[in-house]
Amino acid sequence: MKVLFSEEQLQHGISRMAAAINERFGSEPLTVICVMTGSLILVADLIRQLDMPVKLGSVHASSYKGKTSRSNLQLDASMLPNVKGTNVLIVDDIFDTGHTLNAVHQHIESLEAASVETAVLLYKHGRQELDFKVNFVGFEIPDEFVVGYGLDYQGIYRNLPYVGVLESHDLDPDE
Ligand code: 5GP
Ligand code: MG
Repeated sequence: MKVLFSEEQLQHGISRMAAAINERFGSEPLTVICVMTGSLILVADLIRQLDMPVKLGSVHASSYKGKTSRSNLQLDASMLPNVKGTNVLIVDDIFDTGHTLNAVHQHIESLEAASVETAVLLYKHGRQELDFKVNFVGFEIPDEFVVGYGLDYQGIYRNLPYVGVLESHDLDPDE
């Protein structure tokens, strides 16, 4: 495993994002939506640095990341609080093609939120398939598959305190 961002670097990036979010929303209440499961750890760290009254909700998004299309995105929004008329911040772990955040954004907008903005820890370069602007970004990264700090490979590595790039000997030879 090659470490891309240490625990300390991650905390600096999250503090920068929190400061920008505090500046943007001031003392207005904010509903933060955690896109499960990858952004669980980010959201836990981020919201403890937010100064406004925060409500917390979640959606579960999963996609089967084959080499094929993105048409398999599944969105479970049954855990959402009532967002009508509220300012919403959707938080995801990583922005890759953009399909996940775009789908969650559209869904929240359809529920008549007052405003819908987005934040991601990592923004992967050169992969975007949609014209979608993320409002708050922790770090930009090259097109590499990363794990840790919430991000998984086949369900594991989410508990690593750092973000790393898997090397070939970390990968399952049966894959
Ligand atoms: P998008 O819909 O933007 O293509 O993909 C976003 C989702 O794909 C993320 O929420 C994350 O679950 C997954 N993903 C994209 N790139 C990576 C990566 O490098 N590592 C891991 N572990 N997941 C990724
Ligand atoms: Mg995800």
